[in-house]
Amino acid sequence: MDKASQTRAAQLLHHRSAGLKKGDPVSLPIVPAATFHLPEVAGASHIYGRNGMTTWEAVEDQLALLEDAPCVSFPSGMAAISAALMATLKVGAKLIIPADGYYVTRVLSEGFLAPFGVEVVQIATADYASFDFSGAAVVYLETPSNPGLDVVDIAAISLRAHATGAVVIVDNTTMTPLLQRPLDLGADLVVAADTKAPAGHSDVLFGHVAGRDAGLMARVRDWRRLSGAVPGPFEAWQVHRGIETLELRLQRMCASAGVIAERLLAHRAVANLRYPGLASDPSHVISKTQMTGFGFLIGFELEDEARAERFLTECPYIVQSTSFGGTHSSGERRARWGDRVSPGFIRLSVGIEPFEPLWAAMEAALKR
Ligand SMILES: *Cc1c(COP(=O)(O)O)cnc(C)c1O
Repeated sequence: MDKASQTRAAQLLHHRSAGLKKGDPVSLPIVPAATFHLPEVAGASHIYGRNGMTTWEAVEDQLALLEDAPCVSFPSGMAAISAALMATLKVGAKLIIPADGYYVTRVLSEGFLAPFGVEVVQIATADYASFDFSGAAVVYLETPSNPGLDVVDIAAISLRAHATGAVVIVDNTTMTPLLQRPLDLGADLVVAADTKAPAGHSDVLFGHVAGRDAGLMARVRDWRRLSGAVPGPFEAWQVHRGIETLELRLQRMCASAGVIAERLLAHRAVANLRYPGLASDPSHVISKTQMTGFGFLIGFELEDEARAERFLTECPYIVQSTSFGGTHSSGERRARWGDRVSPGFIRLSVGIEPFEPLWAAMEAALKR
């Protein structure tokens, strides 16, 4: 993690400190309010719960520090993605999305945006580098892609997409703003599922949109207020608490993932391993220039479905669950969701377990 990210992580822990009055709770209060005292509208800091609530605004302050940009929070990653798409598309617009990205984004685009007259074009993440974006209203990318971990050059794509007049949206869920900064690289909007590493404890869904274009962000904010996709105060509080330890957890997770990737790569039961931090990985060169850490996700193949299922079942320190970025290491066979990967492909999310017992458990499960 670079120095600027470390500074942001330190500021984040103190973002409320300066505003505390004597006797205030140091921890963030949960304020469950649908209505606010409103003798007159002019000058009111809060009006109604769908317009704004103090608890989620505290999370937005944390995220705005991390993103170095205004942030609008949502009750899930998909709610954030929906808002970014609704804010930037209209009838007849062309939307480019990754064919190998998060599958719910594809289902949403094909199932709900296409019937409203949006032209949805799916291309492989690896093909973004050479694709002609002419006529596209939105170029949406996900890097590293989930689950294949292909990486595209955000700065180069943004430059080319902007030249043809498109808006660039980047799903930064797999990296978080501490490890990759799409807005600094030229993207117009970042979307992310804070359900994953930022909240970090597998107990809450949350998402956000960040961007520096005031017009675009006003539309994202309007979409939330008008569609009613608002986070709850308790959920916001959970995320606020989670984000306080994000930098610490990422340090452990990324460090462990780097060593586990190397050891898995050397294991004879493992094939086609992908981790952007490995010098041998096709994504390594770009990753080194646009990421300040290589993340905690590893993709690899075991011989077949049965072998992969056995590994997951027999390793006591890998929780079998979908999703990633939690404190517990977790893994699953992505083919079970219809991802275009081989039946023995496993997406592993490395957690915060002390490293040696984690590796020992994985190695033993691979041996069996
Ligand atoms: C999980 C995920 C989402 C969706 O987030 P939810 O909070 O589950 O709605 C979007 N994009 C990526 C890359 C994800 O991993």
